[in-house]
Amino acid sequence: MSTTRTLDLFIEPERAGSYFTLPFEMPANTARLTLRCRYERRRERPAEGGFRAREEINIVDLGLVAPDGELVGASGSDKSEISVSATEATPGYRPAELVPGQWAILVGAYKVAPEGVRVTYELVFEEKRPRWLRGDLHTHTLASDGVLTAGELAAHALRHGLDFLAVTDHNQMVSAEELPRVEGLALIPGVEWTHYRGHANFLGVGRPYDGSFAAGSLDEARAIFETARSRGALITLNHPFEEICPWGWGFDALPFDCLEVWNGPMREANLRSLGLWQQLLAAGKHVPAVCGSDYHRDRLFQILGGPTLCALAGSASPADILAAARAGCSYMVFAPDGPALEQSPLPGACVRWNETRGLRLEIEGLAAGDQVRVVTAAGSETLGQAAAGGSFAGEYELSGPGFARVEVWREFLPGVPRLPALLANPVYFE
Ligand SMILES: [Zn+2]
Ligand SMILES: [Zn+2]
Repeated sequence: MSTTRTLDLFIEPERAGSYFTLPFEMPANTARLTLRCRYERRRERPAEGGFRAREEINIVDLGLVAPDGELVGASGSDKSEISVSATEATPGYRPAELVPGQWAILVGAYKVAPEGVRVTYELVFEEKRPRWLRGDLHTHTLASDGVLTAGELAAHALRHGLDFLAVTDHNQMVSAEELPRVEGLALIPGVEWTHYRGHANFLGVGRPYDGSFAAGSLDEARAIFETARSRGALITLNHPFEEICPWGWGFDALPFDCLEVWNGPMREANLRSLGLWQQLLAAGKHVPAVCGSDYHRDRLFQILGGPTLCALAGSASPADILAAARAGCSYMVFAPDGPALEQSPLPGACVRWNETRGLRLEIEGLAAGDQVRVVTAAGSETLGQAAAGGSFAGEYELSGPGFARVEVWREFLPGVPRLPALLANPVYFE
């Protein structure tokens, strides 16, 4: 869906040689803006000996200014059409979040014909269309103890079908500007706050806190977390039961947005995180779960996108991807090409029990023997088992208010007990 607006501007000859702005309103929910500009640039005039020449009579320069007054880009008179989104932009312009509010076209009246010039601007606002994106929210590069540069990691992610990638080096912040620009991949700035008493990711902002990571007390740690939160970072509490660096601050001590219940290959520590998550949900808390590979280098069972977060984002911008993670509108799969879930209500949704009493779900990409389960506060119930690979469609009705979430368990190796292939965030029925 897109809407088009036209703005007409008449520039008097006296304004030649000056700059001015033409304000316009950016509608809410805009994914991409395309701006076209038309005017009579050249006119034919007779030349000597019966020839005709084309003479440049008007030159109007084009630029775009964000509501905060920052220049998004300027292209002189070189381009008559430009486009900007949160992830891509015409050369000369930078990708920008198209926040609703008053934006402006920067008009440069370089040359104006004696009779003046009429300029027509066409603005095309493409609406955001939520879609499922797949990515990894926890990775390391050479900047800490990984072996790849952010650029190498990004190329790897793109080849494996990921749509987004967060760079989260230990205590090493990175801004969006420092990250490479890769078409088709949203790179999310982040840092893994790494402390002897636990790790947490601060995602989406270049500088979540000032000073040192080395909190000497709970109060100092809280100050760091609160600053990160006030600067808009999404805080994920990482690998709470990891063998070497478990979470040692208690689960009520510091503010966080999401719990990383699945970190790297599925193992004992992750199954314990899953147990903690279930406990919190059963206690009536709304806790969105996320996952990340914690990729450092290729190792047995460790792959980029293992596990992969699938998030229903309004656009491919880091802000929209993180908003989906924050809302729990996501599910986790064991690898970039893991199963795909369609579910109603959506994961993360909060619905009224007397209006909606159950889930409808459809899962693609199952393997023979996969078990589809629904987990509520009362425990886990198997909805079905795939006889052959393929898809599953089913419904589940709750016997009372509470939460319900979908899981797929797979026997990855013959004889090895089933492990999660997919874990979805819950729907809350209140
Ligand atoms: Zn860690
Ligand atoms: Zn890590």
